[in-house]
Amino acid sequence: MNILKTHDLSKRYKKTFAVNAVNLTIHKGDIYGFIGKNGAGKTTLIRLITGVAEPTSGDFELFGLKDKHQIIRARQDIAAVVESPALHLNLSAYDNLKLQCVLLGIKEDHKVVIESVLKKVDLVSLLVDRKKKAKNFSLGMRQRLGIAMALINNPKFLILDEPNNGLDPEGIRDMRELLLRLNKEEGLTILVSSHILTELAKLATRYGFIDKGKLLREITSEELLKESRTAVVIKTKDVTQAVAVLKEANLGQVDVDRELIRVYTDVSPSKLITLLAKQDIDVDHIEHVQDDLESFFMKMIGEAGK
Ligand code: ATP
Repeated sequence: MNILKTHDLSKRYKKTFAVNAVNLTIHKGDIYGFIGKNGAGKTTLIRLITGVAEPTSGDFELFGLKDKHQIIRARQDIAAVVESPALHLNLSAYDNLKLQCVLLGIKEDHKVVIESVLKKVDLVSLLVDRKKKAKNFSLGMRQRLGIAMALINNPKFLILDEPNNGLDPEGIRDMRELLLRLNKEEGLTILVSSHILTELAKLATRYGFIDKGKLLREITSEELLKESRTAVVIKTKDVTQAVAVLKEANLGQVDVDRELIRVYTDVSPSKLITLLAKQDIDVDHIEHVQDDLESFFMKMIGEAGK
């Protein structure tokens, strides 16, 4: 089932299209990594989906529902944390969550709901430390409390805009573990926008790449792995001579970055060492590497710009 499907969705601010005829699909169970540089249009698309902004043209389906009134109702099943979560810093975690229960008109026992969401985001310690105010939390704890607030309504679709902004490595790891757990154990579909690609690569099951408002491509993590090129990286003191030998052998594209040579080839490192040794070229270091998400993205926006 599709959780979200957009049809030529566009948003124009004066002359610029922040979102330009985007056709994006998020399936049930996806952790959808929404990738784009600053200003690419990620937040604008999220604002359109959550109803904060109105499209200039195009439309979208939420949980398969397309009618305007149905979408307004369907939005009750989505929760979004856009940039920093809206917390009352002078209140404790418990009181922030209680306020949220009241605002959302939660009918179940608030204490039970609060305990349950704090458990889900791994903040049970704050049930013991009931008085600690949000302003004294680490940024990572605040982000997780923001997610707890979003979970109160039992959403089916969670949207997070740059959740790792400003977090330290430990906070980033906690956020990753939390999102993976919510996806696996609660069956939550998640859209997570980020420009920290190394982090998204550890999390996402599908990716959407956006640049200058245009969706360049959608790809699953398996497809990405198949498509990313393997290369052999060689370190040697005889760079010029080694490059000449490797180019002459016609094994694949050869790139040079200072003293490192990158050969896009399926030929094994040991065969390359032998080839270079025959020409008296010593290899200081050699390894097999796979293109990462970042180089895949850079290649794609490079091609789109041509
Ligand atoms: P960031 O990570 O920096 O937030 P983003 O990918 O989320 O980037 P958007 O915030 O969606 O990008 O911005 C896309 C483009 O639309 C930018 O050029 C931005 O300047 C422009 N834009 C966004 N909101 C408005 C607005 N309310 N009025 C005018 N232009 C806007």
